[in-house]
Amino acid sequence: MKIKQVEIFAVNLPLIKPFIISYATYPHIQSIIVKLTSECGVVGWGESVPDEHITGETPDSTYAMLKNTLAPAIIGQNPMEFEKIHELMDKKVHRAPAAKAAIDIACFDLVGKKLGVPVYQLLGGRYHEKFPVTHVLSIDEPEKMAEEAEEKLQEGYRSFKMKVGLDVAGDVKRIQAVRNRVGDDIAIRVDVNQGWINSANTLQALRQLESLGLDWLEQPVVQDDIDAMVEIKSKTSVPQMIDEGIRDMVDLRQIIAKRAADKINIKLMKCGGIYPAMKLAHMAEMAGIECQIGSMVESSVGSAAGFHVAFSKKIIKSVELTGPVKFSKDIGDLKESYVIPYIQLNDKSGLGVSIDETILAELTQSSEIVQ
Ligand SMILES: [Mg+2]
Repeated sequence: MKIKQVEIFAVNLPLIKPFIISYATYPHIQSIIVKLTSECGVVGWGESVPDEHITGETPDSTYAMLKNTLAPAIIGQNPMEFEKIHELMDKKVHRAPAAKAAIDIACFDLVGKKLGVPVYQLLGGRYHEKFPVTHVLSIDEPEKMAEEAEEKLQEGYRSFKMKVGLDVAGDVKRIQAVRNRVGDDIAIRVDVNQGWINSANTLQALRQLESLGLDWLEQPVVQDDIDAMVEIKSKTSVPQMIDEGIRDMVDLRQIIAKRAADKINIKLMKCGGIYPAMKLAHMAEMAGIECQIGSMVESSVGSAAGFHVAFSKKIIKSVELTGPVKFSKDIGDLKESYVIPYIQLNDKSGLGVSIDETILAELTQSSEIVQ
C-alpha cells in the first residue's frame, strides 16, 4: 500500500465561547486538516493544531511545511511503516511536531480503515473502558468560576480543570472559591500555564493550597525551567504535572533523570503524533510517572487520535480532550462519544470518526493537493 495523494486544508473551527488561558485568548481555533489517499483508494484523516507558544509552529508555518516539505516526502511511502515515515519526516525537518502529527494521525486512520480495526488495536488493544470527561474552567473572577463549576456539576461533571496563572493572590482565591462551591468529593486540577513563573511564587501559592485536596498542579513555572520543578516537587505534597515543559523524548529524558514531575501531560501536537506519544508513555511507565493525554483545542480528528492512545495504555490515567464539545461546528462526529460524565469510544475502524466534507469545505480558508 502506498500514499498517492495528500490534501491539506487550513480551517477555522468556530468556538462556542472564546478560550482564555494565561498567555492567550482564542476566538476560534486555526487547524490544518490533512487527508491522505492510498493507491487502493482508502482515506485517512489527520490534524495539526500548532501552538506557537509551545513548539514554535504557527498555523501558517505548519500549512507551508506540510505543503512544501512533508507531504511531498511521504508520497509513494507505505503508511503502515510508522517508524520509517517518522524517520523520513525527521530527516527533512528538525522537530515541528504539530506538522508531523497531522501526517502521523492520518497514517494511523488510513491503516486502521485498511485493516478494518480501530486505531487502538494497532497500539496494543483497548485497556480502558471509559474515561471521565473533565470540564475546563477558563480564567475569570473567583465567583464566576465557582458559578460555572456549579452549573456543570448539575449537568453531571465530576471533575474540573481550572485555568489560572494571572496573579498568585487572585489565583488562590479562584481555587478556594471553586473548592468551596463544589465540595470535597469533586476532583479539581489546576493548570497555571506557566503563569506563576518561578518556584518562589509557586511555593507561596502552594502553602495556601496544600489543604484543598487538589489532584495536581500543572505547569506552574516557565516551560524550560525543569530545575524549578525539581525544587517545587521536593517541597510540596501536591502532585506536580509538567505540560508545556514536556514536548518530546529529549525533555522527558531530563525530567526522569532529575525526578522533576509526578505526572506528565502528553499531547500529540507537542510530540509529533500517535507513534511518538506511545514512546513517551513507555518512557514514563519505566520511570513510574503517570500520564495524561491532553490536547490543544482540536477537532474530532485530533481529539480521537488522543483518545485511541489514552484508551490503550495502563499508565495513562486521565484525558483532557475537550475540543469537540467546545466547537459550535466540527468537521467530525466525535461529540457523540461524550456521554457526560464519561467518554466511550466506538469500535469503528481507524479513528472511528465520520468526516462531514460539506462542513469541512465551509470552514476551509485555503487548500492544496499534493500528489
Ligand atoms: Mg496544561
